[in-house]
Amino acid sequence: MALEEYRRKRRFGVTSEPKGRKPAERKRAKNLVYVIQKHRATALHYDFRLEWKGVMLSWAVPKGPSLDPSIKRLAMQVEDHPMEYNAFEGIIPEAEYGGGTVMIWDRGYWMPADPDVDAALKKGEIKFALLGEKLEGEWVLVRTSGRGRGSQGGSKPAWLLIKHKDAYASKRDVAEEEPRSVESNRLLVEIARDEGGNMQKAADGDPPALLRRMIADPKSIAPAKTRGKKKVWHSNRPRGGARGMA
Ligand code: MN
Repeated sequence: MALEEYRRKRRFGVTSEPKGRKPAERKRAKNLVYVIQKHRATALHYDFRLEWKGVMLSWAVPKGPSLDPSIKRLAMQVEDHPMEYNAFEGIIPEAEYGGGTVMIWDRGYWMPADPDVDAALKKGEIKFALLGEKLEGEWVLVRTSGRGRGSQGGSKPAWLLIKHKDAYASKRDVAEEEPRSVESNRLLVEIARDEGGNMQKAADGDPPALLRRMIADPKSIAPAKTRGKKKVWHSNRPRGGARGMA
């Protein structure tokens, strides 16, 4: 596991995604974190990432997780990501790898059923529990014999993400019912608006019924975030002048 493929695919002078430090060694499989990033790139998908040995093992799940144990969701394994990526929410420039809007959709801890995750990876069956803000309970990732097409033409191992039958199994559509960021409470369209992304494209990944309600009642739309250098410039304040001098 290393970050070479992750770094090879990205131009860090252009995208604001993190380059990532050297993976930190952790002795025990305890308090391992997971994150799910909703990503409106060429196509909408959910990036499902599990911490292991200082990096985030990653799968792209086109339809997102389902709480229904009878529904198997395709999960294409992709390159390991740096742990710093877990805090990334914003815009990847359109011309770059993965160009589009990224939302931190869910996060929390994951617990592998078998502490030997390397063996589970090799076997192609990872059983685990999630303790997150949206997802909980037992899940399994099972590798299939199929291979999905990678976004750059290479083929990637195809896995299936399946909810195990337990108290957290449900028929409700969690992706549709809980479409907002756990970091900022924003929809994709609001992240694109705040961070200078393509709002039309981002909105395509938000639930249409919710967008229709927002358009019908514009007061329900969260105000734009203002922070740091994106703050509105006040023209009566002299640029570069000492504060309180004008
Ligand atoms: Mn992605």
